[in-house]
Amino acid sequence: MAAEKRQRKLVLVVVDSLRCDMLLRTVEAGDAPTFKKLIDRGELVGDCVSSFPSVTPVCTSEITTGVRPDRHLIPGMNWYRRSEERYVEYGSSFEATRAFGLFRSLYDTVYNLNMGHLNYETPTLFERLADAGHRTACTPFLIYRGRTRHEMGLEGLLKAFANAAKFHHAVWGPEELFYGELYSSRKVDAKPTLARPATRDAYSAAAGRDLVENDLYDFLLYSLPDVDYYSHRDGPEETQEPIALADDALAELVGAHGGIDKFLAANAVIVVSDHAQSFVEHPLELQTVLGERWQVLQPNAELTADDQLAVGPSGRGAGIWLLPADADARAHLGAEVSAFLEHEVEGIDLLAWITPEGDADGRWAAVSGSGIELRFRPGGDVSDRRGGAWELDGDPAALRARIREGCFVSDDYPDALARLWAALNNPNAGDILVSLETGWECVDWGGGNHLPGGSHGSLLATDSLGTLLTVGLDGDRPEREQWAISDVYGLIEGHFGLGN
Ligand SMILES: [Zn+2]
Repeated sequence: MAAEKRQRKLVLVVVDSLRCDMLLRTVEAGDAPTFKKLIDRGELVGDCVSSFPSVTPVCTSEITTGVRPDRHLIPGMNWYRRSEERYVEYGSSFEATRAFGLFRSLYDTVYNLNMGHLNYETPTLFERLADAGHRTACTPFLIYRGRTRHEMGLEGLLKAFANAAKFHHAVWGPEELFYGELYSSRKVDAKPTLARPATRDAYSAAAGRDLVENDLYDFLLYSLPDVDYYSHRDGPEETQEPIALADDALAELVGAHGGIDKFLAANAVIVVSDHAQSFVEHPLELQTVLGERWQVLQPNAELTADDQLAVGPSGRGAGIWLLPADADARAHLGAEVSAFLEHEVEGIDLLAWITPEGDADGRWAAVSGSGIELRFRPGGDVSDRRGGAWELDGDPAALRARIREGCFVSDDYPDALARLWAALNNPNAGDILVSLETGWECVDWGGGNHLPGGSHGSLLATDSLGTLLTVGLDGDRPEREQWAISDVYGLIEGHFGLGN
């Protein structure tokens, strides 16, 4: 039975920030021959919908669990954790990491994200497939939680630092786990990578080659994050070279199998990007702007009764937490903050929140854009392009949407209702969620930003529509009017013959 199961493997290639238009431009220039071979043999979707906020910790959680933030519980790049009365920071920038402390950020990003914050009731692909008897593996990726225990195996620069910080926790991951120098189930023939951006695709290639040569996986998550780094630095229109480098890393994996035909005979492939990127040139220092009117909790400060707001910048999105203990005081403060942001702060596109009042059918979510408000909740007679059903109250123009034959359609904000609903109904979410206008980016808590350059995080299509390519999947690929990154999980279950 095991042999039968192992006939067809699957490689999930996650290319951070891969925009489909840039991929096709690189292919047309002849600089991405491996991607071209896959595209020629597969089915390509160029508008696969990301999470909201469209930042990597949220998106990679959605890809690996198949559920949205209301269920996987990861709300952003930086967020306020009420139960601990502190900010969580997943490494927005080196400056932000320093502002919260290297050790705390490392602990949050590497350990807490997987072992503490990600919902245990939503199994990751590694857990789901290991439970079904398949061998799982991943190259360095934010979400790695699985069923196999791994002790720390430090090498290089990080060793002295981690020892000094007394960071020596074991984690649970796939059978073959590669997380740079921190956790590595096998020795990788590549230079240390964690502290050196733009070296990770090569690291993945080295780990991948070893996994193939020793036949060590049925499911491999092959992570190629370097396009994101270059796209932030140089802008999303300048990514042909890094996409060509990602192609090189993919070519190594294919080459280790003996060429594209042998590779595809043994493996189905899914290529997905977690989100896209758009160009930014205007900074919004939300924590400072709000701090001029209200008392905003500072990094590593102890919460006091005087603190009114916590602010979590997440690229082109943000969360704002209302800190008063009293519900009436919170509602009053929330209305004041929303009015201020809407009328007096430049760069804000949308505000969203859950309304305090509900009725027998539950509470409403509300979104405000261009001075127009729309309230919505699941269960009415308006459909969306992914099969959801919604009850609306107000003007769909808040999301630049129209109702076409009973269906809510917004070209500017793809899958807007379901993404906002999932973001707002995450118990870890801010009370007010913010999505920025084109060209704007929130400055993080360390002053870090990508101006001028690329960024992501908003609800807008420019940040939210990525690449989805499937090649040779076993099992039926369902027809969908609109694909989302949460669909990848079901495609992989289908390939391995696992029902719901
Ligand atoms: Zn990014």
